Amino acid sequence: MRKIFSVIFIAFILFVFLAPFAYSWGFFAHKRINYMAVFTLPSEMIGFYKKHIHFISEHAVDPDRRRYTNANEGPRHYIDIDHFGPSPFDSVPEKWTDAVTKYSEDTLKVYGTLPWNLDLMMYNLSDAFKKQDAQKILRTSTELGHYIADAHVPLHTTQNHDGQLTNQKGIHAFWESRIPELMADNYNYFVGKAKYVDKPHELIWQIIRQSHTEVDSVLGFEAQLNEQYAPDKKYAIESKRKKSVKTYSEAYTRAYNKMLNGMVERRMCAAVYTIGCFWYTAWVNAGQPDLNKLDDKMVTDPVVKKQDTVAAKIGKEILRGHEE
Ligand SMILES: [Zn+2]
Repeated sequence: MRKIFSVIFIAFILFVFLAPFAYSWGFFAHKRINYMAVFTLPSEMIGFYKKHIHFISEHAVDPDRRRYTNANEGPRHYIDIDHFGPSPFDSVPEKWTDAVTKYSEDTLKVYGTLPWNLDLMMYNLSDAFKKQDAQKILRTSTELGHYIADAHVPLHTTQNHDGQLTNQKGIHAFWESRIPELMADNYNYFVGKAKYVDKPHELIWQIIRQSHTEVDSVLGFEAQLNEQYAPDKKYAIESKRKKSVKTYSEAYTRAYNKMLNGMVERRMCAAVYTIGCFWYTAWVNAGQPDLNKLDDKMVTDPVVKKQDTVAAKIGKEILRGHEE
């Protein structure tokens, strides 16, 4: 009996300890999103991106890793828009310089700079294409993908980002890691071909507004479900990388996903599509350089620890669909 208690206690400590490390979509979903985005690209681009697909996928999580070593990194992943009053989208200027004038840079760095960071990343990617710098194109595409994916997560747009204000701590990783890890192999990634975006800056704000409208459902449904489940049914101990961790039970996860009515899949696939559109737009804006002529010998592919064989299979099917 004592042994059981000590296992539960260790698992609980691990859960508490690991929970704050679960930022933004979780590593699995970020890698999957970047991977799938490659298959939205037109023929002039897809060859180069496919060649480096493991780099684009494996390094999708670098911005999250950087959060531990660089204090400036954190705010780039979110915007706590509800900090700025009851009609925040009317209050917060969409242009960085206007927002700084109104609130100061220090304040914006506390409540998050995600939309403006995306403006900057788009500029950087176009610049990389213009310079035909293979290394920079890949790195910036990969990291832009990360931040676009973050913008699609409702909890990245609120001060209550981990349910800490409503006694729902852990909901962040629940929504963006636990659900995709359990379900994402069955999502429909046939999102179509990337399109040119006339005004990326406006689309960025549209995405953030859309994400923010979903916050109430993300929190509200979980609060409702919590009422129906005893703690021993809500949580389960699972082994992950040879460690026991306390996590939301599979039944609880599936019930929550059902209440969300496909929201996680919708946001994840919307992220895939937007990333493709932004890569394509940056390339067009740079004058459509020939990517086949890039000197990419210096780009070293990372060691892929675990192949995403499901993503690779779906990618092949998408390509076949394009040929037909
Ligand atoms: Zn992130």
